[in-house]
Amino acid sequence: MVVQFSFVVPIYNEEANIPELYRRLKDVIAQLEGEVEVILVNDGSGDRSLQLLRQLHAHDRRFCYLSFSRNFGHQIAVTAGLNFCRGQAIVVMDADLQDPPELVLEMAKQWREGYAVVYAQRTQRRKENWFKRLMAYAFYRVLRNLADVEIPTDTGDFCLMDRQVVDLLNAMPERNRYIRGLRAWVGFRQTAVLFERDPRFAGEEKYTFRKSFALAVNGLVSFSRVPLRISTYIGLTAAAIALLMAVLVLYWRFFAPNSPLTGYTTIIIAIFFLGAVQLISIGILGEYIGRIYEEVKGRPLYTLSEAQGFQPKPSPPKT
Ligand code: UDP
Ligand code: MG
Repeated sequence: MVVQFSFVVPIYNEEANIPELYRRLKDVIAQLEGEVEVILVNDGSGDRSLQLLRQLHAHDRRFCYLSFSRNFGHQIAVTAGLNFCRGQAIVVMDADLQDPPELVLEMAKQWREGYAVVYAQRTQRRKENWFKRLMAYAFYRVLRNLADVEIPTDTGDFCLMDRQVVDLLNAMPERNRYIRGLRAWVGFRQTAVLFERDPRFAGEEKYTFRKSFALAVNGLVSFSRVPLRISTYIGLTAAAIALLMAVLVLYWRFFAPNSPLTGYTTIIIAIFFLGAVQLISIGILGEYIGRIYEEVKGRPLYTLSEAQGFQPKPSPPKT
């Protein structure tokens, strides 16, 4: 039997959401034409999520799961699901029901009309704090201006992708996986469906500020070399200012010997400023070099401790 639709759902301490997720997904699946599989990827949860996934699989065989040996992060969990799904159309969505499963029906319709990627674009984020909304708003706009490919604003990973797109993603060896960027990079016909992002059904947000920040940096560094150039520009500007100041000082020295040449404060400020510029530049270099290091190490992206519903037994692809 060919699987028509695959759902890939990363799970990190989502015990409070799994029953409701099942209920809503089941209704949506009933309305989709063709065989459906749901791949739940347990990203090293510390709560009862894994037990719930086992029960779910025993109760409904369409729900399979992979379980990581520790927390590897959301993007890697999605990657693992994409590695092992078999559907002709693949849906990626969160487990906390912030991505309404019912929207998949609309996405499937667009897919049947020939779109290779149908991504969900948020018109509103309800009940998320203003700081997160502001950061997200600013980040997507910076990214749009700096990235080499056009990454649509206000889209997360919630999307439906055609088999050919997922095959391409799976063939990409890079391990700093900013999936919404890679998905845009692939090309083909892409379209958006608009939706209002609901608040989390239950449980805490798993994306802490640190994780969100890391994801944002990863998105920028993976898809843009502009930050590298920025340090060059700042360096050039600083050099120009220094030259100007030298001319000014010489002028004062010879033509206005009584001018108040303030010393101490100016020097300290200049030292701090240049020190900061240099450290930031080194930091930017570090971001890129660190990623090169990650890539060349070539470790597997994740390690599995358990999997149910797959033939043959899955193991992480070697890169
Ligand atoms: N998640 C994960 N590993 C992590 C963090 C999050 O698999 O280390 C999953 C989480 O279970 C959820 C999805 O990623 O299904 C999105 O997480 P969250 O709702 O916290 O993020 P946000 O909605 O703020 O983007
Ligand atoms: Mg969420």
